[in-house]
Amino acid sequence: MKKIEKGKAFIEDHLDTFQCPVCASPFNTLEGYQLTCLKHHQFDLSKKGTLHFLLKPVQSEYTRDMLLSRQRIAQSGFWHPLLDTIYERIVKPDGFHLDVGSGEGYHSHYLKTAGLSGPIIAFDISKEGVNLGAATYDDLFFMVADLAQSPFAPDSFDTILNILSPSNYQEFKRILKPGGQVIKVVPGKDYLKELRQLVKSEDKDYSNERVVRKFAEHYPNYQEIPVRYSVSLDDSQIEDFVNMTPLGWHLKEDAYIKHMLQTITVDLIILEGISD
Ligand SMILES: [Zn+2]
Repeated sequence: MKKIEKGKAFIEDHLDTFQCPVCASPFNTLEGYQLTCLKHHQFDLSKKGTLHFLLKPVQSEYTRDMLLSRQRIAQSGFWHPLLDTIYERIVKPDGFHLDVGSGEGYHSHYLKTAGLSGPIIAFDISKEGVNLGAATYDDLFFMVADLAQSPFAPDSFDTILNILSPSNYQEFKRILKPGGQVIKVVPGKDYLKELRQLVKSEDKDYSNERVVRKFAEHYPNYQEIPVRYSVSLDDSQIEDFVNMTPLGWHLKEDAYIKHMLQTITVDLIILEGISD
């Protein structure tokens, strides 16, 4: 099946999940490849089978080159210990899942491969990330959207994944079903510390305190699950690693840098909350 037909079939099956980002009314028709709301705002499915819901263009700081580096690092297994832990925590594997700030979608693709049986919508504000994801993975529905003008109907999802990406808790509450689960991942103190030590930026002493406190305000009974491991990188992976994060852009890749980045610490905290 062509990607656009697959995308269309997905929307037909889940029309109730979406709402118009302009006026918040439901979409009542899908004709051809065009979605129309009650007040006649229209959105087209792309050839890749993705939906584009941004009301104005957003300048992305990520180039295709960086996204490819990011994708290769993800595909090499960099996040697997984190993702295996997340997979075990998901309360309703056969529910409806939303990946907020999915980038090119590797995390959700991996969870799907691990056995998550319910549908996953992956969305990001970066069109470049979504395009790369849609070209690579067939098991997710991709869309470009802004969480501040969310195109989702109330009470739609069982799980929200929010991995190293900004949150909007009011929106999370609105679009999660009662009892739905938020799984947010934030950096721990030693996250990528080898890179931070080289960069000597203000970012060097990262603290997640403010982010965790905000999560706790919205989910007082939250759980905090630390995940910590290290990853060995070969020379070509070090190049990708330096290229994939804004922290690394100013680094010149010499022998010293390569030596310092042979082993990377991945220190993360999973924050888990249940919606009431
Ligand atoms: Zn509308």
